[in-house]
Formats: sequence, C-alpha cells, structure tokens
Amino acid sequence: MTKHELRTQIRAAKRQHSPTQLAAFSKNLCDKILNMPIYQSAHTILLYSPLNDEVDVFLIVNDAYRNGKTVLLPKVVGEDLELRIYKGVESLERGAFGILEPMGEVFDDFDTVDVAIIPGMAFDKANHRLGRGKGYYDRLLPRLKNAYKIGVCFPFQFLNEIPSEAHDVVMDEIN
Ligand code: ADP
Ligand code: MG
Repeated sequence: MTKHELRTQIRAAKRQHSPTQLAAFSKNLCDKILNMPIYQSAHTILLYSPLNDEVDVFLIVNDAYRNGKTVLLPKVVGEDLELRIYKGVESLERGAFGILEPMGEVFDDFDTVDVAIIPGMAFDKANHRLGRGKGYYDRLLPRLKNAYKIGVCFPFQFLNEIPSEAHDVVMDEIN
C-alpha cells in the first residue's frame, strides 16, 4: 500500500472508534510513559498539542511542567515546526484549525532535548513513522541529535510494515 492509501485507511479506522475509546487509549498510553525511567529522568522534553484525532498527551505535558521539566511544543510556521516553551495553559492560544498553539518563548537549544514524544498516522514494527504527508517531523528531528524519540499512536495505528523512504526519520521506540 502507498503512504497515501495508508493514511486513508487509518482515517477510516479512527472513525470506527468512539471519542470515549480513544480517550481511554490516550490515558493508558500517558500512564505508561509517565512510568518510564527515560521520561522521569528527562530535563527537556518535546511533546505536542494534540489534534482531535491524535493521542492526547496532555497528562504528560502537565506532569512534566509541574515537575519543572522544560516542556516544548511545536508550532507550525510555514514549512517548519518551531519549538516553543510551554508555560502553563495560559501560554496556549487557539490557532488556525482550532489547534491550541504555544505562544511561549522560541526554543532553539536543540541539542539539549532529551526525549521527543511524536504523533503519527501510523508506525510499524521497525519503528518507521508515517506522518500527515508534509514531512514536518522529518525536517525537525535530525536537529534533535540527543533526543530519544518515542512515537505514540492508538493500537490500530501500529502496523506490521509501512513504506519508508530515506528521508523518513526512524523512532527509537513506539508506544
Ligand atoms: P510524512 O513524514 O509527513 O508522512 P513524507 O515522509 O511523505 O511525509 O514527506 C513529505 C515530503 O516532505 C517529502 O516528499 C519530502 O519532499 C519532504 N521532506 C521530508 N523530509 C525532508 C527533509 N529532511 N528535507 C527536505 N524535505 C523533506
Ligand atoms: Mg516521513
């Protein structure tokens, strides 16, 4: 199957699940990550502000922020993801498409990012990632040289094999 066909299939699979089911998956996944030593020892962590069809990682955003970690959220700026420092819910603003966007200070100390939690349309057993088709994370992640990259997805988004190209950044693990 092509990347495009897979994205269509995943969107259909998502519609088979209720918001309640998806919220339960998100909660389980957050609990799992909150218990990971690599998360607990991280000083600087990249998360994301979920779109309504993505795993909701806000429990992790809150936990990390409360524990004094530097929490980064990406903001789409043209072709790129800019990283901004999360400073509590009041530092978010509803942007285009209703996404809560970070308004905090821009962050460019890329080498200090310890852990990156990354959404995707699909992941596979070889830790490949399929995004929404714009390559945003494929351009960002090579700059985060020291980040342990954790892909997160709903169970139906974890596939045996997805097509992968040379520019596709491979994750360190998928949850
Ligand atoms: P996604 O990762 O969002 O699923 P793709 O992997 O299909 O999307 O990438 C989409 C497009 O982004 C590619 O066709 C390519 O042109 C561009 N792209 C991806 N990675 C890079 C990169 N490192 N530098 C420049 N362009 C890139
Ligand atoms: Mg890609």
